[in-house]
Amino acid sequence: MDDRCRALTMQRESIISVHFAIYYSCLLWYLVNRGWDMPLVVTLGEAQEHEFRREVAADDDRKAGASRLPYFGSEDDPNVPFATLNKHDSGRYSGVHFHRIDQFQVVVGGRGMIGRHPVAPLCVRFVRAYTPYGPVQSHSGLAFFVLRARSEKGSLHFPEARQELERVPNRHPFQVTRPAVFPALRDDADVVEELVPDLRDEHGLSVHTLTMNSDSTTVAPDPSRGAGQYALVITGSLLHNGAEYDPLSLVYIGPQEPRLPLRAGATGLQVLILNFPRTHSTSVMPFAAGPHNWRCTWCGYVYEEGRGSPEDHIPRHTSWEKLPPAWTCPDCDAPKGDFRRAV
Ligand code: FE
Repeated sequence: MDDRCRALTMQRESIISVHFAIYYSCLLWYLVNRGWDMPLVVTLGEAQEHEFRREVAADDDRKAGASRLPYFGSEDDPNVPFATLNKHDSGRYSGVHFHRIDQFQVVVGGRGMIGRHPVAPLCVRFVRAYTPYGPVQSHSGLAFFVLRARSEKGSLHFPEARQELERVPNRHPFQVTRPAVFPALRDDADVVEELVPDLRDEHGLSVHTLTMNSDSTTVAPDPSRGAGQYALVITGSLLHNGAEYDPLSLVYIGPQEPRLPLRAGATGLQVLILNFPRTHSTSVMPFAAGPHNWRCTWCGYVYEEGRGSPEDHIPRHTSWEKLPPAWTCPDCDAPKGDFRRAV
C-alpha cells in the first residue's frame, strides 16, 4: 500500500469512527432520557441511514466485503441491547470465533453456511456465550441479524483464544439452528402462535412465530421470564404507538417492561419473538449419553454414531473409529482429537 492509499484508508476509517461515535452518543442520550419505560423500535430505513461498508483488502482472508446496519447498541456501553443487520457479500468467509455473551442470529436474506450447516432465510440460531462457531460463509449475499440483550466489544477467534475458553468456569457450550416456520391462519382464529422447536430451555429461552390477520390484536409473550426480548417484523406491518412498522423493523422489550401489544396492519403481520434466557442458563441440547456418542469439548456438538454426520455424508451407524481421522466438528471445526466420549 503506498502512502497516499494508506492516508486515504486512515481518513476513511476516522470518518467511520466519528460517524459511529455521533450515532451511538445520540442513541445513548435517547435511551437514557426516555427512561426505559417503553419499547425501542428501529425500522430498516432508519438502520439503513447509518449503514457502513467494510471493504476487503486483497490479502484479507475474509475474501469479500460486508455491510452493517446498526439498529441498537453501543460497543462502549455493556448495559444497552445490541442489534445489527449484517450483509455479507458473496464469497465472504469469517473464521471460527466466539462471544462472551449469548446471541441470536436470524437469517433474512441470501444463502450460506455456518459451520457445515446450510442456512437460508428464516433460519434462527441461538449461540450461548463462550461457544465457538463457524466458519460463516456467504454463498449469495447472506444477510442476518445479530441480536444481543447487552452490548459486547468484538469477538474472540478460535483456536487462538482457546486458553480463554479453558479459563471459563462451569462453561456450558450450546448452539442450535432451526427454521422459523410461520403457522397458517385458521378460519377460527385471527392470531396463531407457535414455538420454534428446540430453541427453548427452562431459563426463559424461547422463540415464537406469530401470524396475525389484518387489524387483529394480541400481546407478545411475557418478557419477564427471560433476560430481554426482541420482536422482528417479517411480513405485513406492526401498528404501535400510532406508527406503522414495516418488515425488518425491530423492537426491543426489556424484562421489566409490560408485554408488548401487537396490532397487525391492513395486510396482516408475521412477527418473530425471541426471548433471551436468564444469564445462569446452563442447559444443553438433550442427547442420549452413552458409549456411542462423542462430544466436542469446545462447542458441545455431539456426534451420535447412530445418526452419523449428514452434513458430511457420513452414513448412520458409522462408528467413531471408522470416522475419517481428518473429520472435524461440523459446528466449530475442532479436530476429532478434541472430542470425548459423552457419558
Ligand atoms: Fe465443536
